[in-house]
Amino acid sequence: MNQSDKKNLEFIKNSGVNYFLQNSPRNWFEDNNIKKQEISKNDDNKLYQIQRIIKNIKNHKSPLQKSAKNLVVYDGNLNSKVIFIGEAPGRDEDNQGVPFVGKAGQLLNKMLAAINIRREDIYITNVVNWRPPDNRTPTDEEILEFLPYLQQQIDIVNPDYIFLLGGIAAKAILSTPLPLGKLRGKLHEYKSLQSNKTIFTIASYHPAFLLRSPQYKRASWEDLQILQKKLNEKS
Ligand code: URA
Repeated sequence: MNQSDKKNLEFIKNSGVNYFLQNSPRNWFEDNNIKKQEISKNDDNKLYQIQRIIKNIKNHKSPLQKSAKNLVVYDGNLNSKVIFIGEAPGRDEDNQGVPFVGKAGQLLNKMLAAINIRREDIYITNVVNWRPPDNRTPTDEEILEFLPYLQQQIDIVNPDYIFLLGGIAAKAILSTPLPLGKLRGKLHEYKSLQSNKTIFTIASYHPAFLLRSPQYKRASWEDLQILQKKLNEKS
């Protein structure tokens, strides 16, 4: 193992990531021994904490940074009860530094409107924060590289629900390579590394996939309705 591999492993370990890619969705309730760090839930502090993550991502100097134009971290509301997580920025997102602003983002806006959610009321982010060259799918190493930052964002925003857009987001958050066909249509439980809170998680199709394969829109609609029902129960 060379020095850079060692440093990378240390970084991942120190971030609390001990497990990845199992054959079934992870039961986060079993992991009570993970070291807890204090994350403030004070609203004024959230922006400061997210800005610190942004700084850390920049300082981390991912190899992806070399070919990307802009860092893309989040859009929306830091106090949202829902986080939507996509895969990685595409060309439009890379140009503007904002997630989901291209064609897939336009479809996402319509999907949100269909369940009476305004884009500005939710927190939107991606697994990977720099655009992969030629929009290629992020590797498992890249998913792991950015996972600590994603987990920290979840802890800061402290949502009640996570909606995973596509297989890469499902792989990262549910720690499983199972296909979306097996994961969608039900609620999973994500257990925060920092608190004992359970965050109900729905995995569904990515809007870019829906643009190519509109026959899956019906299933996506069913998944969105699961979220809508849960949100209505709470209000
Ligand atoms: N696809 C994603 O997964 N994320 C974006 O931000 C844009 C397209």
